[in-house]
Amino acid sequence: MDESIGIVWFRRDLRLRDNPALQAASEHCRYILPIYLHDPSSEGNWTAGAASKSWLHYSLQALQQTLRSQGCPLLIRAGHSREILSDLINETGATHLFWNRCYEPSAMARDACIRQKFKPQGIHSQSFNASLLAEPWEIANQQGKPFQVFTPFWKHHRQHIADSKPLPTPDLNGRALRSIPTGIPLEELQLLPHPRWDRGFWQRFTPGEQGAQEALDSFVHEETILRYSTDRNRPDLKQTSLLSPHLHFGEISVRQVAHRVSQLGHGTHESIHTFLSEIGWREFAYHLLYHFPHTTQHPLKDKFTDFPWREAPEQLDAWRRGQTGIPIVDAGMRELWQTGWMHNRVRMITGSYLVKNLLIPWQSGASWFWDTLVDADLASNTLGWQWVAGCGADAAPYFRIFNPVLQSERFDPKGIYLRKWIPELASASERLIHTPWRDPNLLRKSGYPEKQISLIESRNRALAAYETMQQSH
Ligand code: FAD
Repeated sequence: MDESIGIVWFRRDLRLRDNPALQAASEHCRYILPIYLHDPSSEGNWTAGAASKSWLHYSLQALQQTLRSQGCPLLIRAGHSREILSDLINETGATHLFWNRCYEPSAMARDACIRQKFKPQGIHSQSFNASLLAEPWEIANQQGKPFQVFTPFWKHHRQHIADSKPLPTPDLNGRALRSIPTGIPLEELQLLPHPRWDRGFWQRFTPGEQGAQEALDSFVHEETILRYSTDRNRPDLKQTSLLSPHLHFGEISVRQVAHRVSQLGHGTHESIHTFLSEIGWREFAYHLLYHFPHTTQHPLKDKFTDFPWREAPEQLDAWRRGQTGIPIVDAGMRELWQTGWMHNRVRMITGSYLVKNLLIPWQSGASWFWDTLVDADLASNTLGWQWVAGCGADAAPYFRIFNPVLQSERFDPKGIYLRKWIPELASASERLIHTPWRDPNLLRKSGYPEKQISLIESRNRALAAYETMQQSH
């Protein structure tokens, strides 16, 4: 190894373990400059939402601390990525540039442009897969086309779990540049909200690599995972891994998660298979985002383009605020607001209520989730909303409309989840908590709102809207 200098550009891989870009830099270069560039202009229509920014602040803070303790501090700058990289190459004489890939259309365009710019200057740019089990372009169906159905996709894709052995943490001691260019303090990125409505997030989550490892440990150690297949749909039980924001920001890699889980020694346990297949849905989401990038804003199934959606700003607002009068919907929307996260089953229920009972376009729901979820992820959010609306790949058929009351009674039988997020209904009986409108006294005393709409009428209206779409195609 000569005196070469390598820049490691951290993006959505905010960890040291199993980080192929960092590993490659440590193998090929004498000196390493780890950087983070804040460049909202490269995020296209999907600049980070408020909850994501708040998470990012703490995740960067954690990464800064870890890198500092390794003697190789993180340099932060804000502005246009290509220009900053160019400046840093001039300032340091770096000859190598390493990063781990992102798959959002705007990020892919940015990266291609950067690679092209630096090639003629003799800079070695190298990118790696750090966030998926396999690349979205590596598999195709029997016709050589992208998969649009999950089961055959996963049958092909899951073989990559076997080669998911994670990389170790490279030793960075003595690898920092002798003279490090100036950066800006993290606070200057102004990622935290004012006023601080994000405080509730941190009772549930600890951003950063350490927090991610702890989340995985507690999911695996407490053997919660072995109850996953039976109880993962229960929002009243802490039965899922809560890894989604950690995976989104790359504080832990999917390879680390898959490797750890598949090493548990319960290889044939149904819960292990179910959990890994949920990880598979994330892979499927990236496969679809890569092959059908327009689906972030447009339905995958063309026939939905002319769907008779409604404009209903007041109903949309009540949905966002958790004031629809349907407890399971309101509990979910309040959980989201207060913690930046919502249980998957409740995401499906609140989503279905918005797009089917209220006939509000799925894009309105997706954009609210984008702003309020700490795990907001373009691939998974798009897949989730298109699934709920029935217009995506392998989606719930439009005519299958969730009954939120039955869902609530089935998945939160004692109303524990409802009572937690709707304290004004805490004293309601087990029967009425799911349907408080049946007791006008309860509504009056609690101040909980009347339900916005009739569930039966709105269901029939949705089916009629679906019929008109079928006829026009
Ligand atoms: P676990 O059940 O422990 O699952 C483990 C991991 O598998 C998750 O962390 C996640 O990375 C992945 N996963 C699980 N279910 C899914 C799924 N259905 N689709 C894709 N990946 C999955 N997930 C996001 O990460 N970001 C989003 O923006 C997002 N938006 C969604 C919107 C809607 C309308 C719906 C219905 C689902 C959405 N999901 C999204 C998927 C899912 O709800 C979350 O991944 C899950 O609730 C996260 O909790 P967990 O980490 O405890 O999951």
